[in-house]
Amino acid sequence: MRRHVRPLLFTALAASCGVALAAGADQAPKGRLPSWAVPQSYQIAFKVDPAQQDFSGTTTIRVKLARAADHVWLDGASLTVSKVTVTDAAGKTRGAKYVEADPRAGVVRVDFGGVLQPGEITLKFEYTAPLNAQLQGLYKVTAKGQPYAMTQMEPISARYAFPSFDEPGFKTPFDISITLPEKDVAVANTQQVSEKPAGKGWKTVTFAQTLPLPTYLVAFAVGPWDITPTAEISPDAYRSKPLPLRGIAAAGEAHRMSHVISETPSIIHALENYYGFGYPWDKLDVLAAPDFAAGAMENAGLVTFRDWLLLLDKDSPARDVRGSFNVTAHELAHQWTGDTVTLAWWNDIWLNEAFATWMQQKVTEEVHPEYRADLDRVRGAQGAMANDSLVSARKIRQPITGNGDIMTAFDGITYQKGAAVIGMFENYVGDKTFQQGMRAYIQAHKFGNANADDLVGAIATAAGKGEAFKHAFKSFLDQSGVPYVQTKLARENGQTVLTLKQSRYLPLGSRGDSQRIWGVPVCVRYGIAGGSKVACDMLDKATGSMVLAGASTPTWVMPNANAAGYYRFSLDKSELDALVRQVARLSDAEQLAYADAIGASFQHGDLDAGQVLAALKPLTESKTPQVFTAPLARLDWIYHHVAKTDAQRARVAAWVKAAYLPKLERLGYQRKPGESEDDSLLRSTLAGALAFDYKLPDVRAALLKQGEAALKKNASGRLDLAAANPDLLGDALGVAVQTQGKSAVDALIAELPQTSDPALRNGILGGLASVEDPALAGQVRDFALSKPVKVGEMAALLRSGRDTEAQRDAMWTWFTGHYPQILKRTGSFAGGYLPLLAAGGGCSTAEAQRLQAFFKPRINDAAGIARGLAQTSESIELCAALKAKQDPASILR
Ligand SMILES: [Zn+2]
Repeated sequence: MRRHVRPLLFTALAASCGVALAAGADQAPKGRLPSWAVPQSYQIAFKVDPAQQDFSGTTTIRVKLARAADHVWLDGASLTVSKVTVTDAAGKTRGAKYVEADPRAGVVRVDFGGVLQPGEITLKFEYTAPLNAQLQGLYKVTAKGQPYAMTQMEPISARYAFPSFDEPGFKTPFDISITLPEKDVAVANTQQVSEKPAGKGWKTVTFAQTLPLPTYLVAFAVGPWDITPTAEISPDAYRSKPLPLRGIAAAGEAHRMSHVISETPSIIHALENYYGFGYPWDKLDVLAAPDFAAGAMENAGLVTFRDWLLLLDKDSPARDVRGSFNVTAHELAHQWTGDTVTLAWWNDIWLNEAFATWMQQKVTEEVHPEYRADLDRVRGAQGAMANDSLVSARKIRQPITGNGDIMTAFDGITYQKGAAVIGMFENYVGDKTFQQGMRAYIQAHKFGNANADDLVGAIATAAGKGEAFKHAFKSFLDQSGVPYVQTKLARENGQTVLTLKQSRYLPLGSRGDSQRIWGVPVCVRYGIAGGSKVACDMLDKATGSMVLAGASTPTWVMPNANAAGYYRFSLDKSELDALVRQVARLSDAEQLAYADAIGASFQHGDLDAGQVLAALKPLTESKTPQVFTAPLARLDWIYHHVAKTDAQRARVAAWVKAAYLPKLERLGYQRKPGESEDDSLLRSTLAGALAFDYKLPDVRAALLKQGEAALKKNASGRLDLAAANPDLLGDALGVAVQTQGKSAVDALIAELPQTSDPALRNGILGGLASVEDPALAGQVRDFALSKPVKVGEMAALLRSGRDTEAQRDAMWTWFTGHYPQILKRTGSFAGGYLPLLAAGGGCSTAEAQRLQAFFKPRINDAAGIARGLAQTSESIELCAALKAKQDPASILR
């Protein structure tokens, strides 16, 4: 920066802050916008007809300048700005210039044409922009032939809809108004306050001013939406007025939202009771989006979802019903952690996502204990551990070096590892104490921003803990990896002592450094006379030990009691043998931790496939579906990557058949009147695994019968999709596709554009994704790029069919041949996912190498490719290393 030299201004500048920033010398910011220009409020007005290709807008932003400047930096992307004015603190308005300084990142500069003094200025923009085709910003979707426009701003797409300071740290009130065709409806974050004719078939609706929000939570939608009658959520100790609640869906679909509307009040009350803080916005709308990039989005007061999560009826698949509740609880939890208290910068996105994931499980345990959210937490953490074992894994608080880091921050590390780490420290301080800390945190930062120190500090204060606690908590936030706790029992001075040693868990073939220290709250269960007991301690050095008071001799130990810890463990041979004998007596969560420990030892190279088959067997005795099916994924890997001969494959298949087929046969292939959701879910898990992974003839025959019935055409030439069990529709159609080939593929491709029901669409996509014949697989992939397949549905068709090298080669050839079209459809922000889409499931060095060779020169094609490439190729190499180590003969021992 250089000093501004015009003498006339110098005195005034010196009196205020000394230096004026000149546009010519000031570089476009690469990360955060500078802090000397801060938005105070927005008026955003749009003129939108979803039937057209473009919309227009007027944005007025009051901005506080902390220093004299002749320009400001802000964000705008794909906006054609026709006029900009700036009004200074004295009220004088002049023309200004809109300069696209970094179009790729969406950073723009507004030049004032002269220096303005510190104080409040007003920027006003008039512009037009396309209705986005890639599900970001203000985007266009079609349902039953009718066009709609809606928004998805997170993380950095508000800049496609209006010029803005598009960062979470800038929270201001928004005044939203929309001019739209008279026949259409508009909804936004807040209640509508007026509607006025705007001439020539248009009207203008205005909404109440919002409480302070960041740009990424601004939302609105325009089109022939169908809205349910307004329901009310009753007041409670933390909210004095009834809360209006509505469902919004594409034309003719709102009647299918009654289930969600009936579940929502209990979620809101549970959250208000936990936080001791009433739902803060003036209404709650839940909107079923006809096409959507994410699962759902927590916009303040107007929460948007993929339509299949909200449009439910008695024939909906059980997995949709359960998913609906879980996702609704997650998004509504965000109304506090995220919307009321917002992360200051994207490196702390875990303050939104980890907390919403953790809170969702708490709400679900309270409202639907039968959903076993406690086990979802354990399974989620274990999924994150697989990714966290990569050298290329993100940290929970990964520094942001560019837009790619923002786009790839929404991963399992942020959500599931984050939630598991929160749960671990909650377990350590006690849940009442943790709740006090959370309540204090919400109160201290309501309608403002916060960072990790604020949160960890609030919990430490509530718990009366000091620096050691904060350090332990942050050791999980600021470094990647899974702690590996190796334990050993010993007798010392007449006592039973458990020695502990920690390092980083790294699978066989990893090039990482295993030396890493966390502050790990370790809790172990061990045997005492007639039962068991739990002991806890903080392991914050490389080694440590615990006295197991009252342990029986000999005793046994489960090194992760209640699976509350985010760590993996290993036992020596004799201690593992002792634990295997106790498996049936462990809690469900502990049995899942046991399954993970067996898998981790296998990937570490300590157990062979035969030992894994033996060690996982006791879990199949469990009555709990999540435990009962826990071995399936590991068995599938052994079947496809270890077994070489028919005899070896037959042995694995026999293991699976003996463990699971009798249960599936007892469940049958149709829903029984009044059966539990658990049974419906288990049926579909087992049928899918046995029919596709192991191709058991009886299971395939039962599914084929349903698939053939579903493929029968009725009088109007439509398929009879309702003929299959809704829980099995995708699998039934999948077997039919594999059996009948082209006629089934053609029929499903013809049916999709005529079907608007999201559950039936998912069934059709699932059926098509099971295609095996190479020519037909190519036809299905080409179809994925065509208009009848929504952008948000495309991946469902492209991610399967990865079991054999031949299948992966075919996908690779297709992907590289269609790369420009894929990139164009997924948009500039899905980059982190592209390498996985291209080569996920790969298991040879050659596959990793060709992936690297293809994407290295294309790393800047979309935000996030670099991280996606590093993680996918590392996963492929680790798979190859593990495969090379295997002795297939161990299966038959
Ligand atoms: Zn979320």
